[in-house]
Amino acid sequence: MSGRRTGAELVIVGGGVVGLAIAREVRRAGMDVVLLEKGRVGREASWAAAGMLSPLGEALEPGPFLEFGLKSLRLWTSFAPTLEEETGVELEFRRCGKLRLAFSEDEKDRLGNRLRWAHRRGVPARWLDGPEVRKAEPAVASDPRGGLLLEEDYRVDNRALGEALVRSARDSGVEAQEGREVTELRVQGGRAVGVGLADGSRLDAEAVVVAAGAWSGSLEGLPGSVPVHPARGQMVALQPSAIPSDRVLEWEEGYLVPRDDGRVLAGATEERVGYQRAVTAGGIRDVLASAVRLAPELAGAPVVELWSGLRPATPDGLPVLGAHPEVENVFLATGHFRNGILLTPVTGEAMGKLICETESSGIPEEFAPGRLARTAMDEVTSS
Ligand SMILES: Cc1cc2nc3c(=O)[nH]c(=O)nc-3n(C[C@H](O)[C@H](O)[C@H](O)COP(=O)(O)OP(=O)(O)OC[C@H]3O[C@@H](n4cnc5c(N)ncnc54)[C@H](O)[C@@H]3O)c2cc1C
Repeated sequence: MSGRRTGAELVIVGGGVVGLAIAREVRRAGMDVVLLEKGRVGREASWAAAGMLSPLGEALEPGPFLEFGLKSLRLWTSFAPTLEEETGVELEFRRCGKLRLAFSEDEKDRLGNRLRWAHRRGVPARWLDGPEVRKAEPAVASDPRGGLLLEEDYRVDNRALGEALVRSARDSGVEAQEGREVTELRVQGGRAVGVGLADGSRLDAEAVVVAAGAWSGSLEGLPGSVPVHPARGQMVALQPSAIPSDRVLEWEEGYLVPRDDGRVLAGATEERVGYQRAVTAGGIRDVLASAVRLAPELAGAPVVELWSGLRPATPDGLPVLGAHPEVENVFLATGHFRNGILLTPVTGEAMGKLICETESSGIPEEFAPGRLARTAMDEVTSS
């Protein structure tokens, strides 16, 4: 690692899955790329995630988010084997399916509604009534009113994903530097000319990508604000003698994700506590209580790991992808909230096209960085 360079064609701020996927893509298109990571690559939200790939499970309505997620899932089916072959890292990419359980009439109605628009969109999904759920998932206690079965959902080992991406990016020539905190974007005459770092050094750049996850709004120097805030998620890994289900089980309060090594990941809280990353007694109590209510056999399972991460959340729940509205050679790629692992391939591909100007990026205009500022402005002018 040099750390002595004075400039690069493209500087990427942030080495989570988003920054790494973009770095890999633009490098392949021939750009000279330096990625700057304040800690270790892939060790923040991308490390903390549960690895569910569930476009329909996560979309609240039909629209651009669902379409982007479905596109990414399609890409995943070639992205995962390619990355594994390139790097030798096993990603545990499995078509495990997800069962989203309903324990109340309200939740049943909501899921029934989702099933209808899934069918209209042609996305495979099926309703199981209460007795069918009990037969399919004997470990589930209490009395589910039914469940939405998403057989096309996948899971992946997100920690392995970070490792594979950095290996692939480095092998293709990306210079990924760790322990390099960017504090400032240097903007002159409406264009970025580089970045300033916490150690006082500078790096010149012809363009800059901000992919700093929940910290994307913390950089000095950019006009306006990047409206991303941290949403803490706390998780627990259990090592039961038998996993409750091969599928991901999800309900209103949480989820259980099986892993190949027999662990079960139970998640997750969603908290607005700023940048506090602590694992708390109350958070873990809530996650475990809910998991054990769902699958009582888990009560005897050893706890093997506790952790938390900060999701990059936005006011409207959509990612922020595209050129900065005022500084055209700054690109924002953040706000992936609960779905950055799902959206890794499509984000890398789309941002690569945008930055390299090879072809239309396919990024929905609903994700444009300027939209949130516009919304705030509209509210001011209409009041
Ligand atoms: C508990 C939990 C469960 C989740 N489960 C899922 C799931 O099942 N499926 C799914 O798709 N998604 C899931 N997510 C969401 C997913 O993890 C995120 O959307 C995704 O990891 C965001 O990636 P990122 O690269 O934007 O952010 P991060 O992984 O946080 O990476 C940002 C990087 O930028 C670096 N950085 C920040 N500021 C600077 C700076 N000034 N200078 C240099 N570097 C900087 C950070 O150190 C960090 O490494 C989950 C998240 C959490 C917390």
